[in-house]
Amino acid sequence: MIRINENFTKLKASYLFSDIAKRVAAFQQANPDKSVIRLGIGDVTEPLPGVCIEALHAGADELSRRETFKGYGPEQGYAFLREAVAKHDFQARGCAIDADEIFVSDGSKCDCGNIQEIFSGDLRLAIPDPVYPVYVDTNVMAGRTGANVDGRYQGITYLDSTPANGYVPAIPSTSADLIYLCFPNNPTGAVATKAQLAAWVDYAKRNKAIILFDAAYEAYIRDPQIPHSIFEIEGARDVAIEFRSFSKTAGFTGTRCAFIVIPKTLKAYDTTGQAHSVHALWNRRHSTKFNGVSYPVQKAAAAIYTELGRRQVREMTDYYLGNAKLIREAVTSLGLSCVGGENAPYIWVNTGGDSWAFFDRLLNDAQVVCTPGAGFGRCGEGHVRISAFNSRDNVIAALARIAHALKR
Ligand code: PLP
Repeated sequence: MIRINENFTKLKASYLFSDIAKRVAAFQQANPDKSVIRLGIGDVTEPLPGVCIEALHAGADELSRRETFKGYGPEQGYAFLREAVAKHDFQARGCAIDADEIFVSDGSKCDCGNIQEIFSGDLRLAIPDPVYPVYVDTNVMAGRTGANVDGRYQGITYLDSTPANGYVPAIPSTSADLIYLCFPNNPTGAVATKAQLAAWVDYAKRNKAIILFDAAYEAYIRDPQIPHSIFEIEGARDVAIEFRSFSKTAGFTGTRCAFIVIPKTLKAYDTTGQAHSVHALWNRRHSTKFNGVSYPVQKAAAAIYTELGRRQVREMTDYYLGNAKLIREAVTSLGLSCVGGENAPYIWVNTGGDSWAFFDRLLNDAQVVCTPGAGFGRCGEGHVRISAFNSRDNVIAALARIAHALKR
């Protein structure tokens, strides 16, 4: 008899964004004449930078000629992309990361989910709350947690991000083996200082643990004091893996390209205490289960590292940050407190009450979709996330509607 992986039955029945979609669909069915503005899901709206479009076309042309045709590429990614990443994203910031420590993939979502496969099934997890749901759900699927009791899975050390700690979780008093951190944060938009990250690196060293550092929103950092990479912290090469994505950096959510950085010095241990190279383990896993990102897409990704490409990416991220600034100002002027939006495309609004009720109020009274914080974890209750990913016109219209609805 074929049997299922029963860990899947522990997962909460429905996914946050499908709940939102259902409520929006019901509203639209009941109010077909009203237009809804979506500041909910974190998907980009602006077209790809011009350099990427040109590179995509050029890459496709190369595939059309026998002399330049390419079949399977290196599973880890083409050297031209890995070298550009190492040089511009890391070495230029003083991080000693080499091109062969970079693995190109088709998305950070897959990378965040897949990486835990190379670690033992019974390790102790520390995961922030609120959080990008993929970190938790993939570990539930892998059987690393117990049941969901009152909205929390047993066996996880939750790292609370609250107004009291400025939404940057404190180091836990208990030990953990695998720690997830995400800065700039989704959903809160909070960023971590060098000192805060250094404390995590120190904790990981003391516990022989590994930090999975998700820097998907790195391109939105504007404060020069804020680190862009965990590898800016001394000693991080021995305790951290970093995830980066072209999705929010350059509008690749539909184009798909990302990468993971695993230093060759990073070690994890077997039951006898013998150290193993995490880089070698991941290389084995990645090349066994993945056959590379398409050539034109890697060309397009590499194009953002040219001088023109860097300018275009800056313009795109500045555009969304301009939206974020408007959202912050509008929310603050309505008397609500918020964080994020300065070095991140998300604004985390403290509503002071039930987050789904606030979501319904914005949907029904302003026809604006946000994301209820409760969907990101228990500490998300009392908050909503407003995304800056939309056109300027839509953001301005949405803010006018919100102001009108909330002042009533
Ligand atoms: N990590 C975080 C924190 C995200 O918010 C997202 C997407 O929203 C991802 C990773 C996934 O990125 P990708 O499009 O590369 O799969």
